[in-house]
Amino acid sequence: MKLSWRVVLLWTLPLLVIGFFLWQGAFSSAPADMGRNAANTRLTYGRFLDYLDAGRVTAVDLYDSGRTAIVEAVDPELNDRVMRWRVDLPGNSPDLVSRLRDANISLDSHPPRNDGALVGALGNLLFPLLLIGGLFFLFRRSAGGAGGPGQAMNFGKSKARFMMEAKTGIMFDDVAGIDEAKEELQEVVTFLKKPERFTAIGARIPKGVLLVGPPGTGKTLLAKAIAGEAGVPFFSISGSEFVEMFVGVGASRVRDLFKKAKENAPCIIFIDEIDAVGRQRGAGIGGGNDEREQTLNQLLTEMDGFEGNTGIIIIAATNRADVLDSALLRPGRFDRQVMVDPPDIKGRLGILEVHARNKKLSDDISLETIARRTPGFTGADLANLLNEAAILTARRRKEAITMAEVDDAVDRVIAGMEGTPLVDSKSKRLIAYHEIGHAMVGTLVKDHDPVQKVTLIPRGQAQGLTWFTPSEEQMLISRSQIMARITGALGGRAAEDVIFGDAEVTTGAGNDLQQVSNMARQMVTRFGMSDLGPLSLESSQGEVFLGRDWLSRSEYSEEVSSRIDEQVRSIVEHCYNEAKGIMQDNRAVIDRLVDLLIEKETIDGDEFRQIVSEYAVVPEKPQFAPQL
Ligand code: ADP
Ligand code: MG
Ligand code: ZN
Repeated sequence: MKLSWRVVLLWTLPLLVIGFFLWQGAFSSAPADMGRNAANTRLTYGRFLDYLDAGRVTAVDLYDSGRTAIVEAVDPELNDRVMRWRVDLPGNSPDLVSRLRDANISLDSHPPRNDGALVGALGNLLFPLLLIGGLFFLFRRSAGGAGGPGQAMNFGKSKARFMMEAKTGIMFDDVAGIDEAKEELQEVVTFLKKPERFTAIGARIPKGVLLVGPPGTGKTLLAKAIAGEAGVPFFSISGSEFVEMFVGVGASRVRDLFKKAKENAPCIIFIDEIDAVGRQRGAGIGGGNDEREQTLNQLLTEMDGFEGNTGIIIIAATNRADVLDSALLRPGRFDRQVMVDPPDIKGRLGILEVHARNKKLSDDISLETIARRTPGFTGADLANLLNEAAILTARRRKEAITMAEVDDAVDRVIAGMEGTPLVDSKSKRLIAYHEIGHAMVGTLVKDHDPVQKVTLIPRGQAQGLTWFTPSEEQMLISRSQIMARITGALGGRAAEDVIFGDAEVTTGAGNDLQQVSNMARQMVTRFGMSDLGPLSLESSQGEVFLGRDWLSRSEYSEEVSSRIDEQVRSIVEHCYNEAKGIMQDNRAVIDRLVDLLIEKETIDGDEFRQIVSEYAVVPEKPQFAPQL
């Protein structure tokens, strides 16, 4: 009889499998046994010894020929609850056994047993395989992350992926434009340098400081400056690095980080992007994230676990303090919040001065002028700006940076790379009318920022651009200023419409119209600047974040919704008519300016105003007054 392969396989495979389990069970019955006995939490051998020294250990069960132990100890942080941990012992350790006996700790040893049930054995087999596979991946992933600037040391090979800088070399002098934040943090430096001064009178030194501010405002820089001023090491890790694919990795990174920091106290621990781990727990669409919550819990435990006076100060940075878990902000954790705002004009000047220190500037450079031209720029933007200018200078083979390079760099940072101008054609004429339309309205409408220049040199997505000099930063913007901006933004389309007819208008106004709709809608729904009255109908339209609340609901009826639309439309219509009126009344000067623009490709603000003042017809409506 011929035995078919299938039959052979059918019989031998199960035998092989069962045989393997029996064999496997003979070597390691421990995990199955321990599964009943203990939590799977691991304790490092060193920690175990610490606990032993502290007299917290109550019982030790040895498994696996003395290579593994289940340790029972009281946890004073958890109301003296008895906890169990698994500890891997470094082989056979007779000293340990005698120590345990001396300390009168209940000790037991469990021989290997063969009675693992099939299911248990299956679990045993799969679990180590998965774990080994997981570890393998982890090591491969983190091995790639090594390397860093200067004397920075990267613990990429170990589980922890944080950086340590023994000396940051950054001082408070290198940070400008955020004086209030600096002042508040000055105190932290004193905590690190002279803790006695505070502890002597019984003051508790704060453990955590949270820096809140938009990206690029200098939060990392500030944290480094604190370490630099105090002359202490700087440990840093980014919140996103905590959160890994495998549950438990983040928590162990937190543990490692704090362990290293304690060895190096006094020091600073800097946690960047803390919102990546520290979001409100138990919220969000799609359920919670186990790994993140464990990491956060570990972080909280570590922060509670050391005394305030050990000389470790934790500085965390985020741009979303609103999504943070409230447990993080409790006293004893990040109880100090320091706002790091984008700089105002004086701050920008200060930052420019810092970054101009190591650059060659020609005499014509006025840092004040640059500061004035760059509202909304953060410290990082300004640093980048000066660097771009320096690169341009080198490319042009000049000795020192002049205003021309800085201007070009600003344009580039704001609007993108310069392209090649169009050749003379119908579309170039249309673009010229469109831009002159913006510039005309901007010049003739009351309360509009003055024109800085009009250009047909393309940049980024735009074929032509009209630049306005921003007025001094204002916290408050009036209704008439918003109306002026809407009218100005509609100037381009109005010019196309009036000059070429409504069949010829182009897609070039798409961007303008988007801004117009936004501004008009906000006037109605947020600022109470319409006939609907002073109502706030929508909160500021941020992106939907999945941290705390669900999608924001609209809080008005459909009737109100259609009235909003009506109001928005009437604002835009009103402004569009004004803009068209200006085009119709000034056709002659507009034609002249367009010819000039096509010829020169750029007209600067002064020249533009000069020409307009000779010819322009000023609208009669009281709302408008010339701004020449
Ligand atoms: P954040 O951490 O807030 O995103 P960074 O501290 O990383 O910002 O800033 C990036 C770089 O921008 C800094 O290294 C520094 O060169 C520059 N910079 C930012 N803010 C300032 C500032 N207030 N003063 C001087 N330089 C700054
Ligand atoms: Mg940063
Ligand atoms: Zn436009």
